[in-house]
Amino acid sequence: MPSDIISSNNNLIDKKSNALLSRLKSKKSKKMVKNALEFSIKMHQNQKRKSGEPYVVHCIDVANILIDWNMDITTIASALLHDTVEDTDVTIEKISESFGDDVAFLVDGVTKVDNIIFKSEEHKQAENFTKLFLSLAKDLRVIIIKFADRLNNMQTIEYLSPKKRKEIATETKEIFVPLAHRLGMASLKWDLEDLSLRCLDPKGYKSIDKKISESSKKSSVVIDNIIKPVKKELKKYKIKSDIFGRYKSISSIYRKIQLQNKKFEDIYDLYAIRIIVDKIEDCYLALGVIHSMYTPMQDRFKDFIATPKTNGYQSIHTTVFTSDKRLTEIQIRTKEMDNTAEIGIAAHWLYKGSEEMKDIDNQVPWLRDLLSIMSGEDSEPERMMELLKIDMFEDEIFIFTPKGDLIKLPTGSTPLDFAFAIHSDIGSTCVRAKVNKKLVPLSYILTNGDIVEVETDKNQKPNSGWLNFVKTSRASHVINKYLRNIEIEESVKIGNEILEKGLRKAKIYNQLNDIKSRIEEINYKNFNEFLSDLGRGRIILKDVIAQLFPDIRASKNKTSSDTDFLKSARSESEGINLDGVRNLVVDYAKCCNPIPGDKVVGYISRGRGLIIHRPSCNSLSSLSGVKERLVPVNWDIKKDISFKTKLHITCLDKAGTLHEITETIAKENINILDVKTDVNIGGSADIWIVCTVRDLKSLNNLIKSITKLKNVDAVERVFS
Ligand code: MN
Repeated sequence: MPSDIISSNNNLIDKKSNALLSRLKSKKSKKMVKNALEFSIKMHQNQKRKSGEPYVVHCIDVANILIDWNMDITTIASALLHDTVEDTDVTIEKISESFGDDVAFLVDGVTKVDNIIFKSEEHKQAENFTKLFLSLAKDLRVIIIKFADRLNNMQTIEYLSPKKRKEIATETKEIFVPLAHRLGMASLKWDLEDLSLRCLDPKGYKSIDKKISESSKKSSVVIDNIIKPVKKELKKYKIKSDIFGRYKSISSIYRKIQLQNKKFEDIYDLYAIRIIVDKIEDCYLALGVIHSMYTPMQDRFKDFIATPKTNGYQSIHTTVFTSDKRLTEIQIRTKEMDNTAEIGIAAHWLYKGSEEMKDIDNQVPWLRDLLSIMSGEDSEPERMMELLKIDMFEDEIFIFTPKGDLIKLPTGSTPLDFAFAIHSDIGSTCVRAKVNKKLVPLSYILTNGDIVEVETDKNQKPNSGWLNFVKTSRASHVINKYLRNIEIEESVKIGNEILEKGLRKAKIYNQLNDIKSRIEEINYKNFNEFLSDLGRGRIILKDVIAQLFPDIRASKNKTSSDTDFLKSARSESEGINLDGVRNLVVDYAKCCNPIPGDKVVGYISRGRGLIIHRPSCNSLSSLSGVKERLVPVNWDIKKDISFKTKLHITCLDKAGTLHEITETIAKENINILDVKTDVNIGGSADIWIVCTVRDLKSLNNLIKSITKLKNVDAVERVFS
């Protein structure tokens, strides 16, 4: 048995395999494809297609399509193996071991693309899906194999259930047809489009198909009447040509009937005459010849050779009036252009040589090359670039929702970004995420094609920790906005408290509404903004009051009762002693008004004798040569003696407040000697209490306890 003959125990497989091998020219190619065939036959040996044929027949058919498209041997071998990893126990490592890294790379690419293809039940987002498809494929040849695979699946679709048929046909129409168009695979596009139309509207398809065959006799006469004289004329100019008539695709006729409301009989361009020549110059020569024979329709002439279409399509189109006064479209192009029209940019890739084209880096200059060619009239280079750059830069990923919708995210995105991309509320209340049905942290890095599911909880709130891992600006924007609002809310609350207490203390609480209405005078647009700044300490209430009410000053009006208080407080002491010298004649400083219990220091004045200050007194430090004139003094107090003190309490004028205060004082075992209250407009009150305390410590404790009371704004000891 010759080494390039396959012999399995199935006649169909043998026949198909050997036919495939016979199409290959080089020994090396035959050997590689034979190995792939044998491997594939073995791996798929127990599998059958819905048609009942052995599964491997599909793989051989796909390989044949790729040979039709002039694809390289790596692609053809990969096509034979394209379903082994997906459908059998074979691993990519095994493929790599047996057939090398290139084949393994392509098979892996096809497997990855296959894995996403049926995830999306509705193909609403064909655009995104196409991008995902391209970004997973990484190598254009993966797409080409996938196209051949899809073409064969569509050709054999009648064996599937009606539901499955409709599903696959819809996907073909919405994903594969537009992609084939963009990549310039015109004839594949027509084939796929017609095949899916046959599934989706069998009646419509059949009626057109019938009409075409009915009119074909007549048309073939017309076509022949053109071909013969043209061929003869071209020969005169030594232009070698291949001329044939070609029907428009059924779906393009279908569209004309449906969309333009035309009758089949009224469509003049049901078919076109195609002239294939060797060289570009010959295209223009042939055009000249045609135009000398038939009258061209002026606005129907298109030169896609000078300005190719975005997808790389090149040809000359002209519509002429033939002898019987019919309009006929004539297309003139070279063999290479015809090939490009067949398999689009794949052809371009083939002509550039295959070896260097396998990875993304190497595809970049090739794509640039391609794009520089595609600078034509109705081209959309930005769009084309956008479509293709995913392969090159991989800066986006596509994520499925559980329903099969696709969400586009930047690379490095997390389930939280996904949640925010769906809706701000979903992101803000997101608590848990599942990727491909497995629970993951919210910071998990997603990869292309993941299915993500998130759970929410209405009690969840965004937190600043999320900012550490979200990738999308949408997510961080919403989180930041939320955090900012919380901060503002908080600071407004604090600001409001500061304002109310401060106003009561300054006894101008009744001015609250006045402040609200005059907020613009201190450069605020709204009251909350003012409160927020007050709460954050950006402005000081005292300054605000001084600015708005220059007349109000915290004036301390001395009353006789204050003087009485001082006298009575000091009377508790026997006086001042200095180094044990008692009953010194002293004067008490008016600036700090010391009373028994305060730490004191003596100042030897010029002329006024010894003056008693508190050491913390401000005016003391401003006196000159103060250190030499200071002497240590003590109150001459008998032990256990208590002294009088006076407290000024600012509080809300609410029932029970005074009671709470007096109760607090009583709890501290302190006697109250006198209470005076004064109610202000605006709901605040002043209370003065004179009481006797044992020492400073217990006085301070008392002040603390009263300050803590709910309705009390401030407590201060009064010295004057
Ligand atoms: Mn397949």
